[in-house]
Amino acid sequence: MDIHNTTEDIVFSSVQTIFDEIQKEGNPEKFCFCDQCRMDTICYALNRIEPHYIVSNRGFTRMEQDGIKRQQNEADIAALVYNGLRLVNHNQRPTASHDSTAARDADHSKLAFDIPTIAGRLFDGVTFAPLSDIKVELRCNGELVTMRNRNWQNPYTLVSNTPGSFSFWPAPVPAEEADIHKVFEYSLKIESSEYEPLTHFFKIPTVSKMQMPFSYSLDRTFKLPDLYMFPPGEAEQNGY
Ligand SMILES: [Zn+2]
Repeated sequence: MDIHNTTEDIVFSSVQTIFDEIQKEGNPEKFCFCDQCRMDTICYALNRIEPHYIVSNRGFTRMEQDGIKRQQNEADIAALVYNGLRLVNHNQRPTASHDSTAARDADHSKLAFDIPTIAGRLFDGVTFAPLSDIKVELRCNGELVTMRNRNWQNPYTLVSNTPGSFSFWPAPVPAEEADIHKVFEYSLKIESSEYEPLTHFFKIPTVSKMQMPFSYSLDRTFKLPDLYMFPPGEAEQNGY
């Protein structure tokens, strides 16, 4: 029987994406990306994530339908990879020949409001089918919200392999002091030629704290209620 742990695929590609991302940003924390440190980071993450085994194509179908869980998983995995990368770099193996020196600068910390990942689902209000190929915008004070890094898009276009699911991970918002309580007011704006436009307002309370350059909201996902889009005129016809 051919069994495959899909978590391995996700962790390997996540490490690749995150390392590329950090290098594109000039590697400000001077992480070592040699093969040994890369493998140590992968092992760190794999040892902390529940394996997800599939036997056949049925497994894939189930995973695809479980889109929102998988996206959350990706945020968790990204957080683990960052954590692993830091630990590995703090405890570098003296016997390995690291291809770059890891002179670390602790002066990158700053105060900020750490915004959790925001996840939701979008359905057709008549057929209850999950929607795809629709653009969802996350706005704050009328402006598109900046995402944490290039792995996250805003606007986000719903894709057919994670039907109806969308998620955002806003960048931390700089703060003047620690322990300031602030409520961020967001709106989701969803427009499509096939449906009446939809705007959904929500608030996320946060507290400012010290951030590391690649910090994360490990256990925080803000889940939105399921949202429904209606074809033009449908709401009136049905007497809603
Ligand atoms: Zn190394």
